[in-house]
Amino acid sequence: MDSTSITVIKPGQLIDGLGGPPISGAAVVLQENLIHWIGSSEEIETNQEIKNLVDSAGQYGVLDLPQCTLLPGLIDCHSHTNMPGDGRTGEEVNADTDDVRLLRAARNTTLALHSGVTTLCDCGSWNHTAFSLKEGIALGLVPGPRFLVTGPPLTTTGGHLWYMGGEADGIDGVRKQVRYLIKQGADLIKITASGGSTLTSDPYRPSYDVDELKAIVFEAHNRARPVAAHCRSTVSINNALDAGVDMIFHCFFAQPDGSYRYDQGTAERLAESGVWVNPTHALGISRRIELQAKKELGPLNKIDADMLDRIVNGHGDRIEAYSTMKEMGVRLIGGSDCGWGSYPFGDFQAELISMSDFGLSPMEAILTGTWNAAQAIGMQDSLGTIETNKEADFLLVEGNPLEDMECLRRVKAVVLGGRLVGPKQG
Ligand SMILES: [Zn+2]
Repeated sequence: MDSTSITVIKPGQLIDGLGGPPISGAAVVLQENLIHWIGSSEEIETNQEIKNLVDSAGQYGVLDLPQCTLLPGLIDCHSHTNMPGDGRTGEEVNADTDDVRLLRAARNTTLALHSGVTTLCDCGSWNHTAFSLKEGIALGLVPGPRFLVTGPPLTTTGGHLWYMGGEADGIDGVRKQVRYLIKQGADLIKITASGGSTLTSDPYRPSYDVDELKAIVFEAHNRARPVAAHCRSTVSINNALDAGVDMIFHCFFAQPDGSYRYDQGTAERLAESGVWVNPTHALGISRRIELQAKKELGPLNKIDADMLDRIVNGHGDRIEAYSTMKEMGVRLIGGSDCGWGSYPFGDFQAELISMSDFGLSPMEAILTGTWNAAQAIGMQDSLGTIETNKEADFLLVEGNPLEDMECLRRVKAVVLGGRLVGPKQG
């Protein structure tokens, strides 16, 4: 038996990702990459088939961790592996070569895996880099999680992230671009439905019109690819809902004049539609911390000073909006957006922990990065919960994250498809 193949896990408690209370004294038995059996440690002795399997496991095949909580492996629906997460802007990273961006992406996916992310979505990378990385991970050249990619996001000419190589305009143009991305291996389709931080775009206004968005969604769904839309303006949120996207990233209620105005009618549409909404709340928090630290050292330039103002002023508004939406039943997913801004890879937990700002319980917050996320990306049959016949993807953390969410960062083991892959040793 390969030394890294796991046969049985005996955690102190098990959170299966179905939302029920944690289970003490559980044992999970794996067969190759799948979850074969779940029961109590004592039951192993009375079930001959399971006992034989467990007895056949070598000493390395047993994870006996009574001080730990076993959870489904984390699913981060939103990241940018080409980006360093050190405050550099998209324009700055556009000056790198694809070779450098690909090397950085390889390092980032390994960091994510070792921190407990067993499924990672790259929702915007330059040119062919994400497809190459996906191939490299599949070939075993780079340690990485299950890796789902969008390639360059669809964007209008000069729109947000245009420099990644995904400019497409008009119904024919966007149809062709979606087909081209799927031909290259896109697992998901990402649209920038409003502008963003890209200098030539306008974050407070929509980019595509509804007919273009509908054409994108039609082509993507026709090939069973979920669609995620970046929406930083209220009009763009409504356009994305009209088009029937599956996920909305950021979901900021910004008006064309840049002001933030929570919109109840739009929130009701979000709740009714069942669309998955990704707050990217920790991204804003990390940016604020970075800019405040920079300000301590000397005056900020105008772009940084304006951004800090916007983040500080908007912080309470966004918490209020998301708290209301949570109460209304809007379905939330965790997506770090890491790599972007000042959010480096390796701490998706920050996004999950930040959900408590909106009134989510620790269990609800964990589900945003496990079961909810699996549904949002259409992988609910194989990922997101600890159930028999699902992929054996797990995170084992020291302590009880339901009492202290910080425990999510005390990673003791990461299991991907039945193999022990983290945390990084030494
Ligand atoms: Zn993003």
